[in-house]
Amino acid sequence: MSIENIIKANADIVDISISDDLIKKLEIYSGELKEWNEKINLTAITDDEGIAIKHFIDSLMLLKYVDIPENSKIIDVGTGAGFPGLVIAAARPDVKVTLLDSTGKKLKVVADIAEKMGLTNYKILNMRAEEAGQKKEYREQYDFATARAVAELRVLSEYCLPFVKQNGYFVSMKGALADKEIENAFNALKTLSGKIEGKYNFDLCSAGERNIIKIKKISQIPTKYPRVSAQIAKKPL
Ligand code: SAM
Repeated sequence: MSIENIIKANADIVDISISDDLIKKLEIYSGELKEWNEKINLTAITDDEGIAIKHFIDSLMLLKYVDIPENSKIIDVGTGAGFPGLVIAAARPDVKVTLLDSTGKKLKVVADIAEKMGLTNYKILNMRAEEAGQKKEYREQYDFATARAVAELRVLSEYCLPFVKQNGYFVSMKGALADKEIENAFNALKTLSGKIEGKYNFDLCSAGERNIIKIKKISQIPTKYPRVSAQIAKKPL
């Protein structure tokens, strides 16, 4: 089945309107992803069905559960090959998405793919999250921070919450272990002014359980966070 048919066949789970223009852009994305993946390791998922469901539909599920107002500023932390950030940028031309990753060669590919998709509402940021979060041009500048498959929630909270404006949201995309991660992140969320406002559980077609955790940043956080990588790794909150 083509990307178009797989997405259309599963459109009811996404529950947001998927335009022909978006399908066209996702087809370009998938073609480029497969081609680039032969040269550089971007994703272990290389078949059309896997790309359509585990990358595209999974990323779009965020838009189903989280209301993102027009013109929002979003930062996707550890975007890798662009998930969920580049899919969100394609689906929502009105929002501005910053795609952050510490691996420059992945970001070069992401920029190339985004250009081929005809997107202009994105920026590339090649930096470690914990370094960018201490810089005033990025700290507390975003309405939303998103992340999928980057680190456990307590570590990810320290990476992501510093980017978020007060009353903005950190949206974490997790698998079946979400409840355990939430339990372990109790102290981190308290320290970093994060309050879980919603957890949305769904079965991603045949790909298994997924959870989207919506965390509100209720006040500013102490400037000592995020700490340097070594400290975060050695002593996670
Ligand atoms: N979010 C993508 C996805 O779901 O397919 C990529 C996931 S990949 C497993 C994790 C990505 O996070 C990698 O590209 C890695 O370079 C990036 N990453 C991990 N820790 C990071 C950090 N502290 N700052 C920036 N990027 C980071």
